[in-house]
Amino acid sequence: VNGRTGRTALVTGASRGIGRAIAARLAADGAEVVVHYGSDAAGAAGTVEAIERAGGTAHAVRAELGVDGDAETLLAGVAERLSGRPLDILVNNAAAAPAGPLGTTSRAEFDRLFAVNVRAPYFIVEQALPLLPDGGRIITISSVATRMANPAQTSFAMTKAAVETMSRTLANQLGARGITVNAVAPGATRTEANGDVFEVPGLAARITGATALDRLGSADDVADVVAFLASDAARWITGQVVDASGGLFLG
Ligand code: NDP
Repeated sequence: VNGRTGRTALVTGASRGIGRAIAARLAADGAEVVVHYGSDAAGAAGTVEAIERAGGTAHAVRAELGVDGDAETLLAGVAERLSGRPLDILVNNAAAAPAGPLGTTSRAEFDRLFAVNVRAPYFIVEQALPLLPDGGRIITISSVATRMANPAQTSFAMTKAAVETMSRTLANQLGARGITVNAVAPGATRTEANGDVFEVPGLAARITGATALDRLGSADDVADVVAFLASDAARWITGQVVDASGGLFLG
């Protein structure tokens, strides 16, 4: 990565929302981006188009996550698009949405949540590792849910705590190769897909009232933090969870 131009990146779940913004931002920084999606081919095509319109290069790759062979399918698609070039930046962004509080989540829903949010990123890292050069970057999107103790998001918060621990431990393993491994924890972030959630009367006001910077986050707010961690300027940061929430619930 250091000093090499023409970096490459994989962003999972880049058909919309925060993943789309990360893909666009990394492309604006000059990376060729593989835009992963699960089912929304039109959304992924929209991300690719936006990147190309801005003068960048991107490819869409489909892989359903949370099923057997998911990481292998994804990385086979990525390797094909990169045709022998390394993968400089891996961003694990795709995740299933929060499930409800204790007593409302079935075992099947719980297993699915862990399969998409924990098992998939773990094996994506494993499968991506042969493509990652020394000095590469692994960034996984967590959530402020890990420190907020919100009972409505217990199982979801558990999945995000798992990827924070994954990042910290893998940082120790991969540091010898100059690969940094970090997590980024967004707060309440308004996207095209979840915009209505914040229309619930009083919710947006309650959240902004608990946010030091006094507004909801945007996907670009998070993407800029990811781009920083992906850059050479962040070469001395590893094993960290970087909060990108505008200071939500600072106490
Ligand atoms: P969205 O729900 O808007 O988008 C999720 C993306 O992940 C989509 O591109 C979707 O692709 C993909 N995806 C989801 N499940 C699967 C699956 N089983 N297989 C393949 N792809 C899948 O998410 P956001 O943009 O809101 O969030 C992005 C990340 O940020 C997530 O990790 C989320 O937990 C985290 N986060 C978000 C917050 C927020 O307020 N928005 C707050 C804190 C954390 P497709 O539709 O094509 O299947």
